[in-house]
Formats: sequence, C-alpha cells, structure tokens
Amino acid sequence: MVELTCPICSADTPLDGEEEAGDSILCAFCFSPLKMTVKDDGSRALVDDS
Ligand SMILES: [Zn+2]
Repeated sequence: MVELTCPICSADTPLDGEEEAGDSILCAFCFSPLKMTVKDDGSRALVDDS
C-alpha cells in the first residue's frame, strides 16, 4: 500500500498504487480534491486541486 500525505489535513491518504501523474484523488479524511504529481526524482506527492 502506498500512502501520501494530504496537503490540506496532513493525514496519510492510502492509494491503491495505480495512480498516475495528473490523476484526481479525493482525500479519504477531509474529502479535499487533490491531484497526483510526480517529482523529478520519481517520488509522488499530492497537491491541492480545489
Ligand atoms: Zn485531507
């Protein structure tokens, strides 16, 4: 399981691991709209997409 930190509520949001850059994700805790981004080093992060 992959978990990334929500930029809104700082909760660890579980992902199924199939997400790609640009995919929209809803935080499971605060329900904020987030977007998957992939950094230059290949690591993934969530950004506010509201
Ligand atoms: Zn959240």
